[in-house]
Amino acid sequence: MGSLSKEGRKDARKEKKAARKDARKEKKDIRKTVKEEKKELRQDTKDKKKTAKKEKKAEMEKIKKSGVTGKEKRELKKEVRHDAKDKRKDTRTTKKEEKKEIKTEKKLDIKQAETKKDERIKEIKEERGMVPASEEPAPYLGITLYANSNFRGDSMSVNNDWWTLRGSKVGNNPCSIKISQNNVAILLYKKKNWNGKVMYLRHKKEISDLDDPDRGGKKGFGNSITSVRVNPFIIELNVTVVTGENGELPGGWPSRTEAEKEIKEIIEMTNDFLERQNSLLQVKINDLEYRIDEKRWHLDKKKNDKRIKIPASWKKSGFVNVIFVNVVTDALGISDSGKRGNYFAVGVKRKSIDLLDANGNTIPDNEGNSIVGITQVESLAKTFVHELFHHIGDLEHPIDEPVEDLDDEGIMYNMMTQGNAANIKLLHLTNSQIEDTHQKIARHAWAKTKRVE
Ligand SMILES: [Zn+2]
Repeated sequence: MGSLSKEGRKDARKEKKAARKDARKEKKDIRKTVKEEKKELRQDTKDKKKTAKKEKKAEMEKIKKSGVTGKEKRELKKEVRHDAKDKRKDTRTTKKEEKKEIKTEKKLDIKQAETKKDERIKEIKEERGMVPASEEPAPYLGITLYANSNFRGDSMSVNNDWWTLRGSKVGNNPCSIKISQNNVAILLYKKKNWNGKVMYLRHKKEISDLDDPDRGGKKGFGNSITSVRVNPFIIELNVTVVTGENGELPGGWPSRTEAEKEIKEIIEMTNDFLERQNSLLQVKINDLEYRIDEKRWHLDKKKNDKRIKIPASWKKSGFVNVIFVNVVTDALGISDSGKRGNYFAVGVKRKSIDLLDANGNTIPDNEGNSIVGITQVESLAKTFVHELFHHIGDLEHPIDEPVEDLDDEGIMYNMMTQGNAANIKLLHLTNSQIEDTHQKIARHAWAKTKRVE
């Protein structure tokens, strides 16, 4: 299981930045060397030509001095000219070949620098996934638990995950909590190892009695919290890209490279969203496969036939299964809550209508500006997150648009509202949606296996 503190993520970002910077420098050096090599080659060629000219002149001089005349003299001169011509030709050919070699080598060197950078970034990312929560440096989060209600008794600053509070300063039964800063979150569990009933809290707040709903608490949570979590859970994805019969990629993706690039961007946007929400969740691709399948190339929810299920061989236990298909009829994506097929799907083919509301109007943001310029990948990321939460959190479409008091953030669109055309950056999840999701995750096998004992 991997999870990372804010500090750790910052370090990873720094390292990635350094890797990119080094690669840029290396490429610059390669280009400089190539320039020098080319200059040298030009000088070399010039010198060769000069020498050849001198040699020709000397040969002619020799003929003149030798005293031969007539036809013989003409023949000798002709030979010298011929030789000189051949030499010039050779020089040109050598120059051409050497130039080509420099170019090829440059290409290889640049490619090598790119690969080196990619490998370094991959390593940084892998490390990210494997760092155990307990070994992470613990940044100050401004979260304090108190043994008794009304912020009395022993207290403890929570900056890291506790799979059991037994033996901690506040023991197994903290009764009140203070969160002194925004953009932090904590999960409180009734059972050890982040299991059982869960309570999710984010942003600045003070709860003087965790058992009292009137004071921000929740019935049953007084005197009974056994484990707490402040670092995100990583949900690992088993990805299938469904291809058409002739290997055609969904949504007109031109190549596998392009498909993977966009999927990577979707994952990055998803993780940015999850981090912005302080959801204590992150996603990560574990596996990506291409599977030819004409039936599931086009999913039709209404038909509700066999194609809606996915073959067992496509699934991987312990992971969230996601498939990218060409089209989902009358929808952008589809998901089940784990009863039928255990997967969710995203239709890659987008229409520009995605950017409009039901009446065909552009959707204004919270300052009344129309949202323009939402890209295909942003649209895909939005669907991806929407379906992900239908799937892992069993979340439904909210009937009323819940507007939450997030201080001055002014976020107004719910990620789970159907047909919401807002940019992913203007979407959010409510506290209870995140809490419900973590409650589901605590029960799912794929999340449980990632917990420590
Ligand atoms: Zn939906």
